[in-house]
Amino acid sequence: MEEFDPNVLSEFVNMVEAETLDKFSSDSYEWLKGNGCIFSVKSYYDVVNNGSVGFSIGGEIVKAINHLREVKVPSNILFFGWRFLLNRIPTKDQLFKQGILTNKNCAFCMVDDESISHLFGRCLYSDCIWIKVFNWIGSGMELSLSKLVSFFLHCEKVKNKVRRLITAVIWLATVWSIWLMQNTIILKNSIFNFYDCMTMIVLRSWTWLSAFCKTVDGCNFSV
Ligand SMILES: [Zn+2]
Repeated sequence: MEEFDPNVLSEFVNMVEAETLDKFSSDSYEWLKGNGCIFSVKSYYDVVNNGSVGFSIGGEIVKAINHLREVKVPSNILFFGWRFLLNRIPTKDQLFKQGILTNKNCAFCMVDDESISHLFGRCLYSDCIWIKVFNWIGSGMELSLSKLVSFFLHCEKVKNKVRRLITAVIWLATVWSIWLMQNTIILKNSIFNFYDCMTMIVLRSWTWLSAFCKTVDGCNFSV
């Protein structure tokens, strides 16, 4: 609760007080920021960019999101990438803060706190994944290993557009596979499996790039 914005609370109270409750009416959701109270991703994107959802995002994140929107992957993966860039992934430190979990130890190493930067970057286990991915795609690339880990903040360094989009797909396949591995460990009480995680990164990259390559000339990247 220490991060709760009093302005948001005040806005919420004003909204509630402006309405008259009627016990004979059924509840329903309305998206007040869109045309005709209908939710759309574009309207939410506009709200976030305008900083009117209780937080504002910096210029480099907006740029990163704009690059993300160019990538051809399934919409749920784009949505995940979007939440990732906005630091809205429910890692254990976030769930601990909300009182949902009683510990915030990383699901992989079980030592450090599980934050987004730890789980998807600094953790020893994730680091092994990134090194493997970097060795796979990194030769001749303009990015160092550390910049590949935070790809969308540095993707403009990759001048060739096709190569940039391909690397973006592989980056998304990597963070998504790391996230699903974390979910599996928590839900099925299993342990980190490097081979399974890498296999799924390659498989997802191949699947998404196969669809993507049909429409892009000059895509000769081997997976
Ligand atoms: Zn860890």
